[in-house]
Amino acid sequence: MDPELIKDCVHCGFCLPTCPTYVLWGEEMDSPRGRIHLMAQHVEGTPVTPEMAGHFDACLGCMACVTACPSGVRYDRLIEQTRAVVEREHVRTPEERAIRELVFTLFPYRRRLRALRLPIRLATRLRPFLERVHPSLGAMAELVPPPARPVRLPPRVHAVGRRRATVGMLVGCVQSQFFPQVNAATARVLALEGCDVVIPPRQGCCGALSLHSGRDARRFAKRTIETFERAGVEAVVVNVAGCGSSMKEYAEVLKDEPGGWAERAAALRVRDLAEYLVELGPVAPRHPLPVTVAYHDACHLAHAQGVRSQPRELLRAIPGLELREIAESAVCCGSAGTYNLFQPGPARDLGDRKARHVLATRADVLVSANPGCSMQIAAAMRRSGEGGMRVAHTAEVLDASLRGLGARALGGR
Ligand code: SF4
Ligand code: SF4
Repeated sequence: MDPELIKDCVHCGFCLPTCPTYVLWGEEMDSPRGRIHLMAQHVEGTPVTPEMAGHFDACLGCMACVTACPSGVRYDRLIEQTRAVVEREHVRTPEERAIRELVFTLFPYRRRLRALRLPIRLATRLRPFLERVHPSLGAMAELVPPPARPVRLPPRVHAVGRRRATVGMLVGCVQSQFFPQVNAATARVLALEGCDVVIPPRQGCCGALSLHSGRDARRFAKRTIETFERAGVEAVVVNVAGCGSSMKEYAEVLKDEPGGWAERAAALRVRDLAEYLVELGPVAPRHPLPVTVAYHDACHLAHAQGVRSQPRELLRAIPGLELREIAESAVCCGSAGTYNLFQPGPARDLGDRKARHVLATRADVLVSANPGCSMQIAAAMRRSGEGGMRVAHTAEVLDASLRGLGARALGGR
């Protein structure tokens, strides 16, 4: 934990109202300021106690405090360093270790996830039993969406009309297995906007889950850099908020690696889909889409990447579409990568809170640019008993408009 970064905190408390765990419990040690105080104690020699580790584990890593902090405290860097220390120094219970191993052995590997889609789906029927075995298993069974039709994407999708750019596309581990239709929509939208889209078939995990959990993500980062260097693309477009924010951190992750890795990482032009489309500017005609949409700010898009206006701009430009804002949009939905699996209790409370605000918009469709958020809020809406709302990705909404498919195409899931 970098003492210089810790010193930047002036204890003003401006970050407190945006911190989901402080909002839930009102406990100082579960606020950004309190956690920074614990980090300072550790730097001064206090070992990581189980209680301390609990306060760090309870942090969602949502980065709302980074956005709110007027002193520019790099809590994002601090919590990543802290998680690595917790992983090294804190002895977890055998149960916790088993659940963590299960998640980290499964989720970053697309083939393993694919093989387990059906068993996971069958496990949803056993949810009450799994819940009793371990709350994390119950959460996993509740979150998994209905099976999606598999989509096979070619290694290259050609631009429609004049080619304006050649971009790479990250398919994402969870996205490609549970929401393959989002990747198909992303490739179509980019092609309709004049991009050749290169989709390397052998791409692996970008390392987001590891990076956000204090584990070593360098191997994943290097492999991803090599994959897209070989693809010869001008930019890498990412449609998963958590993956995009991690890839934008590669230069920092690899700063001590010999071999020029930090420079190679910096040369990789990583862009969120909405960010890229706004930079590129539209050429494809938009067809009317008479639908009311509530847009959800994924934390790793809004807080970590500062991408807030671009998705709204793209959605508002669709004729007939009405955009509604969700109350408390800056507060995390509780998904936060693996948070809803490792901390199912608070994640559920935050999910229920978010679902209430989403349902209050009375929109037809909830739009989110992160599969974790989509699964988390959809599950909370199902729990609410108030009837659900279709959930779609920004790419699917754009795709429906660009292809003139009408509102019924946004079937969501
Ligand atoms: S990252 Fe989110 S949960 Fe963690 S301290 Fe900051 S605001 Fe709170
Ligand atoms: S993290 Fe920033 S906003 Fe929060 S108490 Fe410290 S200086 Fe103030």
